[in-house]
Amino acid sequence: MRPLASLIASLGLALAAGTAGTAAAAEQYTDADYARVRKFDAHVHANVDDDTFLGLARRDGFELLTINVDYPDFPSLATQAAVAHALHRRDPAHLRFATTFTMRGFGSPGWTEATISHLDAERRRGAVAVKVWKNIGMVERGPDGRLVMLDDARFDPIVAHLEAHAVPLIAHQAEPRNCWLPLEAMTTENDRSYFREHPEYHMYLHPEQPSYESLLAARDRFVARHRRLTFVGAHLGSLEWSVEELARFLDAYPNASVDLAARMTNLQVQSRADRERVRRFFLAYQDRLLYGSDLTHNPPSPQARAQNPPAQDDFRAEAEQFWRSDWTYLATGGVQHVEAIGADAAGLALPAAVIDKLYYANARRVFRLR
Ligand SMILES: [Zn+2]
Repeated sequence: MRPLASLIASLGLALAAGTAGTAAAAEQYTDADYARVRKFDAHVHANVDDDTFLGLARRDGFELLTINVDYPDFPSLATQAAVAHALHRRDPAHLRFATTFTMRGFGSPGWTEATISHLDAERRRGAVAVKVWKNIGMVERGPDGRLVMLDDARFDPIVAHLEAHAVPLIAHQAEPRNCWLPLEAMTTENDRSYFREHPEYHMYLHPEQPSYESLLAARDRFVARHRRLTFVGAHLGSLEWSVEELARFLDAYPNASVDLAARMTNLQVQSRADRERVRRFFLAYQDRLLYGSDLTHNPPSPQARAQNPPAQDDFRAEAEQFWRSDWTYLATGGVQHVEAIGADAAGLALPAAVIDKLYYANARRVFRLR
């Protein structure tokens, strides 16, 4: 008879081999680990002053960064700020917020001073970052009628202020490259439904507007000019279509990180073509990637248009489904059907230590949270 200890040891080995079939199985998470692992969603929009979103986050082991943004489909900036303040006050450990500023009056006397004092007031209330949106580059025009680009020198005093106080800037610049293609040529259904609903932002319909390349060139000049700024490129820095391009961006600008918000499907398109290529990217840039979903909890509105990720009637079900699907893709080797790309996607099965960084430690470091 074999000694009991040896029997247990071989049983344990058999179990480990049965779950994943590799020696590294113990270093990877499974779907069962989802709720217990500490996680940080670095890109959400909590625009309703109730505990729905926070309750889900607490249940699923998430801390949230809710980002205020000057988006016409969202509640007013004042309302977004009031909601962020209220939620942060109720549960400061689970909800942080990023503030933003209006472009109204940009270029006129006093705008810079007023903007800086607004940002300082928000920081005193707990804001940990500042967000700028694609309206810079694509919508806002200066007194001369020209589009205002992010590398406009008139932003410099504000950026210098952020640098001096070590406040990160989250920038959503340009759009996914799909935005410059006709609807039928887009690679993901979530992009297609968003731009079908938002023709004003669908650049294929607006050839007079700046090109994808020129918007990202302005963004790159901005990051290059402000090397002391902690820069977070929202939505994979709008380089969602190519991990090689994104790697080049991260190599060129050591002060930059990117969040994954609302661009997982673009990664899945790439990993279906070459899973190892995408996996190698995550391993190489494991300190520069922040998990984010772009989940948006908005007040019900008959005027509501498609969001990216698409909003459903049942926010609880949507959040749960979205978060779990992302976890399965990043943390496990599980295969799931992804409707937005009309195909199955196999998970990247990233090592648990890498998951801990991109799901938690990187955001805590970048946003200087204690
Ligand atoms: Zn967003």
